[in-house]
Amino acid sequence: MIYQFEREAVAFYGRKMFELGLIKGTGGNLSLLTGDGQNIAITPSAVPYNEIEAGDVVIISKKGALIDGARKASTELSLHLALYESRPDIKAVVHTHSLYCSILACLGWEIPPIHYYIAFCGDKVPVAPYATFGTKELARKTVSTIGTNKAVLLANHGMVAVGSSIKNALMVAEVVEFLAEIYYKARCAGNPMQLELEEIERLRKAFGDYCGGQRSEK
Ligand SMILES: [Zn+2]
Repeated sequence: MIYQFEREAVAFYGRKMFELGLIKGTGGNLSLLTGDGQNIAITPSAVPYNEIEAGDVVIISKKGALIDGARKASTELSLHLALYESRPDIKAVVHTHSLYCSILACLGWEIPPIHYYIAFCGDKVPVAPYATFGTKELARKTVSTIGTNKAVLLANHGMVAVGSSIKNALMVAEVVEFLAEIYYKARCAGNPMQLELEEIERLRKAFGDYCGGQRSEK
């Protein structure tokens, strides 16, 4: 089996995403850039995450051609490919319909810097305008909205997190769901206070490697 290491990583972190409660059934997907930087390993369409094995993972070229795999690639393949093409720091992409991210995505509320964990994700978590799932339009809107941040909400849909590794991307997805829950509940109770941009920069330096990605490589 080619790219066995990458396939096993996608299957392992797919199961982990399920165990963390970030996805239910087959909603959501994740991918990883192969070690040679030529292709991506992506979760298959319509296979429950708690059942995914390395052999189910599909290998696709960065241009979108099938390289290897018996199954059909995730329906959000265009979105994954567009993100890798847009930023060289992106080595993995995680997409979920996690509960609080989806609630904010339906309200059209971006997550401002209300908790210091925001530094793991950028300055804020913006909301990409709505487009039908699986379309190039959704891919385009996601890329133009995420900017240099590590996460973005997709209006009326869910969220996307990117990372310098698959472990890092999943950590960002977990942090964003935590921030979304805090922000939603804080807004229900009042007006949460925001951190200054200088403080976020200080936090990013303090977190160091945990932040990974484009900004901390400067
Ligand atoms: Zn989705």
